[in-house]
Amino acid sequence: MGLGKLVIVSGPSGCGKGTVISELLKRHSDLKLSVSMTTRKPRKGETDGVHYHFTDVRTFEKLIENGGLLEYIKYTENYYGTPKQPIDDAVKNGITVILDIEVEGAENVRKRFDNNLITIFMLPPNDEVLESRLRGRATESENEIELRLKRAQEEIKFKDKYDYIVINDEIDKTVSEIEQIIYNK
Ligand code: 5GP
Repeated sequence: MGLGKLVIVSGPSGCGKGTVISELLKRHSDLKLSVSMTTRKPRKGETDGVHYHFTDVRTFEKLIENGGLLEYIKYTENYYGTPKQPIDDAVKNGITVILDIEVEGAENVRKRFDNNLITIFMLPPNDEVLESRLRGRATESENEIELRLKRAQEEIKFKDKYDYIVINDEIDKTVSEIEQIIYNK
């Protein structure tokens, strides 16, 4: 059996990454999502252990010290990180894992995995869509929205470092595009 692949999907907050990834996972039981650790509070509809492992700063910092994270960052006010063990296990067992992580995290994973790594950057069709999606989900404070919009512009500068750029105009089309990338159809 060959090694599993890692598929990184990055893109500015509000570009629709979460929706596209959950559709992909619904369609392909052979894909697994890397569940990150975070110190941010759960949004409505998010389940601990499914969307994230929600934790506190102390526990997160312990995990950093113990080398339990493949990569981690501070994004706006919170820590986010990828638990290392599940990735190692999946790759060894030939399972493809999707990582929904931002640009700095992607850089750090690139340094460790150059084979078996596919990187995808997702863009919204335009800036207005980004802002209206971010505001429309009404889960963040105004201050947090402003921070995310600012960060979105910074993140977009990294797009050319990725193997593929997909524009998320229509979910079905975006999902098919990513399927083609992963499965080389
Ligand atoms: P959100 O708070 O909207 O769920 O996530 C904020 C940003 O953090 C998103 O761009 C998401 O891709 C990124 N992110 C989530 N988990 C991780 C992680 O484990 N590592 C890194 N580097 N970024 C993450």
